[in-house]
Amino acid sequence: MVFKENPSVYLVTKPAINWSQIANFFIDENVPPIPDSVRAGNDESAAVIEISARMCYMSYGRGRRDITDFINNLLSSKDGSVFEHVNYGFIITGVSRSLTHELVRHRAGFAYSQRSQRYVDETEGTFVIPPALSTTRDATEAARKVLDDALIHASESYVELVNALEKSLPKSIFETNTDRRKAIRQAARSVLPNATETKIFVTANVRALRHFIEMRGAIFADWEIRFLAIEILKLLQEEAPLLFGDFVVEDLGDGTQITYPKYSKV
Ligand SMILES: Cc1cc2nc3c(=O)[nH]c(=O)nc-3n(C[C@H](O)[C@H](O)[C@H](O)COP(=O)(O)OP(=O)(O)OC[C@H]3O[C@@H](n4cnc5c(N)ncnc54)[C@H](O)[C@@H]3O)c2cc1C
Repeated sequence: MVFKENPSVYLVTKPAINWSQIANFFIDENVPPIPDSVRAGNDESAAVIEISARMCYMSYGRGRRDITDFINNLLSSKDGSVFEHVNYGFIITGVSRSLTHELVRHRAGFAYSQRSQRYVDETEGTFVIPPALSTTRDATEAARKVLDDALIHASESYVELVNALEKSLPKSIFETNTDRRKAIRQAARSVLPNATETKIFVTANVRALRHFIEMRGAIFADWEIRFLAIEILKLLQEEAPLLFGDFVVEDLGDGTQITYPKYSKV
């Protein structure tokens, strides 16, 4: 059995611009070339937003010259739709099924692919320890024993159920072995707890990510998803500082962190 305490977050996809096509477009439309028409420079995430936003008024080469000022004006005036053109993809592992149940409630602008408990065997028993029971906290031993015993018991029950179903579900009623394995695992997973570890591929646009981080980085959010939201924020602040730089991270007395943006829900 494996116990995990922290998620791993991999930023695996990000926006890319075909600059030669952008240059052709500027020539065809008789507007100033790069760099006059795109003040974002090499910051491709900001450039996608600038190019799409300037399309609305065909204001290439005109208006606000400073890209930070340009982006902040969009954020403060809630011109949110242009932030939907920029997408980031994450592979997230070491998170619990209860976290992903909360995560997938975020619908608009999100896409998900999650490890299947019907196809993938859970015999190994990998579980995520809630932050309140982390080994880094004092005086958690008694509570940890309760949790560990329950997880061990659940994992053993899963294996027992798989073995029992192997005997009781006749091969003759299934077309393929895969169908039979799925039927066994889909029944056996019913004894797995919320703490069961899962892996998920998440793609979302910047508008949706900002809303997710605001909702799940707030003090009201569960500690596990709050930690994840702040991990994602930190990666995005490095990757796209102009799009996420207005979020502030604060340490709390309970050892956790919260985050909130200057520009709420665009
Ligand atoms: C601290 C906390 C506690 C929570 N507790 C519970 C709980 O006890 N039970 C529970 O069921 N959920 C709970 N939730 C989930 C919450 O209700 C939302 O489902 C979740 O946060 C996703 O938010 P969202 O709908 O704004 O996001 P998204 O689905 O990503 O939508 C983003 C925005 O798009 C707009 N939008 C999306 N879909 C529609 C639509 N169909 N119609 C109109 N506008 C739309 C809305 O403006 C919405 O805010 C909780 C969330 C938090 C942060």
